[in-house]
Order: sequence, then C-alpha cells, then structure tokens
Amino acid sequence: MTNITELAQQPAVRAALADYHARLDDILAQIVAIQQVPAPTFDEARRAEYMAAQFRAAGVAEVSRDGLHNVFARLPGRDASRPPLVVSAHLDTVFPEATDLTTRRDGARLYGPGIGDNSTGLGGLLVLAQTLVKRRLPHAADLYIVANVGEEGLGDLRGMRAVVERFGGRAVYVVVEGGLFGQLTHQAIGVRRYRVEVTAPGGHSWGGFGAASAIHVLGHLITAIDGLEVPATPKTTYNVGIIEGGTSINTIANAARLWLDLRSEAPDELERLVGQVQGILQAINEEHEAADDGVRLVAEVVGNRPAGAVARDTPIVVHADAALRAVGCPDVHYIVSSTDANVPLSRGYEAVCLGLTHSGNSHRPDEYIDITHLPDGLGQLLLVALAAAG
Ligand SMILES: [Zn+2]
Repeated sequence: MTNITELAQQPAVRAALADYHARLDDILAQIVAIQQVPAPTFDEARRAEYMAAQFRAAGVAEVSRDGLHNVFARLPGRDASRPPLVVSAHLDTVFPEATDLTTRRDGARLYGPGIGDNSTGLGGLLVLAQTLVKRRLPHAADLYIVANVGEEGLGDLRGMRAVVERFGGRAVYVVVEGGLFGQLTHQAIGVRRYRVEVTAPGGHSWGGFGAASAIHVLGHLITAIDGLEVPATPKTTYNVGIIEGGTSINTIANAARLWLDLRSEAPDELERLVGQVQGILQAINEEHEAADDGVRLVAEVVGNRPAGAVARDTPIVVHADAALRAVGCPDVHYIVSSTDANVPLSRGYEAVCLGLTHSGNSHRPDEYIDITHLPDGLGQLLLVALAAAG
C-alpha cells in the first residue's frame, strides 16, 4: 500500500499542499462562484454545465455528461488495467430556486446557503483537477472526478446510483462533503421514506359531524408511530417531517398526508421498524374497512437509501485516515451517516466519505463554513486520490 507520509514529502505534493494555504482566497472565490449557481434537487443542469466548463478550463481533456446531468471529468492513468478511482461530490442543494444566495464573511466563517453542503465539496473536486493537471502529478489508475445529481431530499441518491452502475465493483469510491473535516464514514445509515395519503368522505364540521376526517385519522397514525419502541443502539429513528391537508377550519377534511423518515444504523433494525409501520398502516386500514366509513390510507415509498458498510481496514479507509494525520489532524472520528457513499457501501464496494472543512447550520439559510481547516481538507483529498490511484 502507498505510504501517505512519504507521498506527502514528495516535492511536488508539498508544493501543492503549501499552495492550498497560499491560494486560499482564490479557492474560496471558486467555491462562492459555484454556490451562486442555483441547483435544487431535480434542477441541477445549470450547475452541471458550470462545473463541466470549469473542468475544461482546468485543462481536463475528457469531460462528459450523462442524461441525468452527472458530470464526469476523466484524468487518464498510465495503467489501463488498474481499477478506476471515482471521486465524487453532489451538485444539488436543499434550497429552492428563489433562495437569496448572497454570501458574507465574518472572521473565519463564510456564510451562504449551500456553501458547505456542497459547494465546498464541488470546489474540492475542481481544486483536485487543477492540481493534478497543472503539476502533472502521475497516477496509475484512471481518475474520474464526478459532480453528481440527486443526493438531497427526494433525489434518493439517483445520481450516485447511476455512477455506481457505470463503474461497478471494480472501482474505488471517495465521496466528498464540504463539512465533516476529520470525520470519515465507511458505514452508511439506512433510510426509508414514505408519503402516506389519507382520504375520507369529509363534510361540513357541523352538519356533517360524525363523518370520518382524513386529518383525524392522520392524527391517530402519528400517535401510533410515536408509540413505537426503537433501540438506542444500533441507533434507530422515526420522524414525521411534514403534514399537509384539509381545506378550512369548518370542513371535515377529505384528504391529508404526511412524510415519514425512518432510519437505522443496522439494516435489520430498519426492516423491523418498516415492518412495524406497515403493520400500523394495515391495522388502521382494516379498522376503517370494517367500519365502512370511506377512509383509505395509501403509503408510497419515496426514498430508499440502503444501509451497508466496509471494514475499517479497507485500503481506501486506511488511506483517508492516514491522509488526515499527514495534514495534521490527529483525532479522526468515524461516523455513521447517510450520503452518496450509501450506494457503493450497500453493495460492499470499497468506499469512504470524507469532509474538507468544518461547517455549521447545514440546510439553513445561515449555513456557514469555517475556513480554518480547508487547506488541510484539500490536502487530505489530494493525498487520498494519489494514494488510491497509485
Ligand atoms: Zn451533502
């Protein structure tokens, strides 16, 4: 296995790492330029276009896009027989089109919607491509730098699914997130998401009193879910994140719906929770069928992020750990999370998710990154890419 400490001492690599400190303002400007291009999930085409242009400007000869707007920048290795290394970051943000994307700097903090998650990750991809091309750093394996769609919300990892479909189990995967510096993920949380639609006859609140209400049924459903026992370890959770329904205060609602998010560190616990929720839904349906009151519950799966893991001594995880230590981060934390890395990890493919700097208020308009560790995070990414690509 490549020795990362030796790699970090090579003159060209040392120069690159020093450059990340010296050119930090320029790198931040690139991150803000990415952040200024709106990219709500399912509407990432403009940011994809922008990233493709930036990869070309960096001197990458082969830049392509697939039908989903995943962008692929290929840096050919010297040895075609080596399995490719795929370094990816997601293009999409949770912020709708109309969001004010103004940024502001306050000391070490740079604020802006989506700045950390994941403009910084995308900026890291650009800096990696620029470094490898400009400094002609040699690598044996083909390196694919990928800006992919569909990580957030109901995107359901569709971009990464296509990427993993394309490269398969031969490839090694490094997923880059803007925040999470010093934290590595080789274990993916499983997530199942449901949209439950309740329909009922409804009517006038006074004249039709006694008719079944979709909102009241939804209330029973939430109470039943809230009564479920879930283990603290492996951590397993449920959350009704959105409810909608009804038309007016004096109308018995004829329709209402909720969005439910179920998670677990352990695949079997997630399946157990899913089974319990399905049992609740079925019991409520049967109860109303027996009463013949016109109530109907329909549950639809709107998200399915598979759980999975690779061992901590998997080479790519060892490289990521060693690279963090080489750039001066002695305490490496291993976290279980839900990211694009779920896709390769669920199939047992070699994969790790790493972060570039510290961030806060993720998914909020006052999101920020703390730039202090960004040069080290970029250094870690370069070292991991060079070590894994040989
Ligand atoms: Zn993210």
